[in-house]
Amino acid sequence: MNCNEALVLISAAVDGELSITEEQHFLQHLSKCGECYSEFEEAQKTKMIIREIIVRFNAPQTLINSVMQLTSLSQKETS
Ligand SMILES: [Zn+2]
Repeated sequence: MNCNEALVLISAAVDGELSITEEQHFLQHLSKCGECYSEFEEAQKTKMIIREIIVRFNAPQTLINSVMQLTSLSQKETS
C-alpha cells in the first residue's frame, strides 16, 4: 500500500469500516509511514471532537458540517 491508498482509507478506518484485510494493510503502512500515521491521528481527533459536540449540544447536522469544514481548512493551512 502506498500513501495515496492509505490516505483514501483514513476516514473509513476512523469509522471502523475497513475490511480485515484492508485494515491489516493500512496499519502496516502506518507502522512504516509517519506522515500517514499523523494524518490518521488527526482524523481520529477530529472525529472525537465532533462526537463530543454531538453528545454535549445535540448539534444539528449543519453545525457538524461547518465544524468539519473548519478543521479541514485549518489542516490545509498548517501543511
Ligand atoms: Zn504513507
